[in-house]
Amino acid sequence: MIEENVKAILKELPPGVELVAAAKARTPEEILRAAKAGIRIVGENYVQEALAAFNVVGRRVKWHYIGHLQRNKVKKAIEIFDMIETVDSLGIAEEIDKRCSQQGKIMPVLVEINSGREPQKFGLLPENTEDFVRKISKLKNMKIQGLMTMGPFSGDPENARPYFVETKKLFDRISALDLPDVEMKLLSMGMTNSYNIAIEEGANLIRIGTKIFGPREP
Ligand SMILES: *Cc1c(COP(=O)(O)O)cnc(C)c1O
Repeated sequence: MIEENVKAILKELPPGVELVAAAKARTPEEILRAAKAGIRIVGENYVQEALAAFNVVGRRVKWHYIGHLQRNKVKKAIEIFDMIETVDSLGIAEEIDKRCSQQGKIMPVLVEINSGREPQKFGLLPENTEDFVRKISKLKNMKIQGLMTMGPFSGDPENARPYFVETKKLFDRISALDLPDVEMKLLSMGMTNSYNIAIEEGANLIRIGTKIFGPREP
């Protein structure tokens, strides 16, 4: 199943759109099967889970962190991950920068946008994003490469469209500023139920779990 699912999704993706296999709650063996079927990027929400998967799957794929990162997990995280998609505070940005400088790394990051302005969700409010990007672009050991958003969860994927549109506008606005050390090239939006709409609205990185691995156990 996993193999067919991966192949079917990859076949239908337009050129220039990269697939991230969102792997939370999946076993390392399931992730390895996805990798062998053509997955090139694995997204993980938990550092502990990622470590277990990494030990089996290794560097045959790129690893993206897509969960909410806590300061005390940063040191471990930067040993595994090739990108952190969820930078959402100055504190976490500074910690990533500090740990990367200790390990002699430069971490590509995306800034997470709370496009639905939901109080319980993480991410920058759109109106605060430019200022935030200007600030963290000065950190020498990370490189901003774009934006990521979840959008509010809702049954009807059409409801996600306005949030994707808003995030794309923000992405274009920040790109146009042409800030030093900011390379706005990745826009990570869309999950199993919404990725087609996200692609229509400009996503070039999509994060899919259920459609690859099947429903998660409750
Ligand atoms: C779980 C998850 C996804 C994928 O969700 P599905 O609906 O299973 O495709 C995408 N992004 C993030 C941040 C996730 O936590």
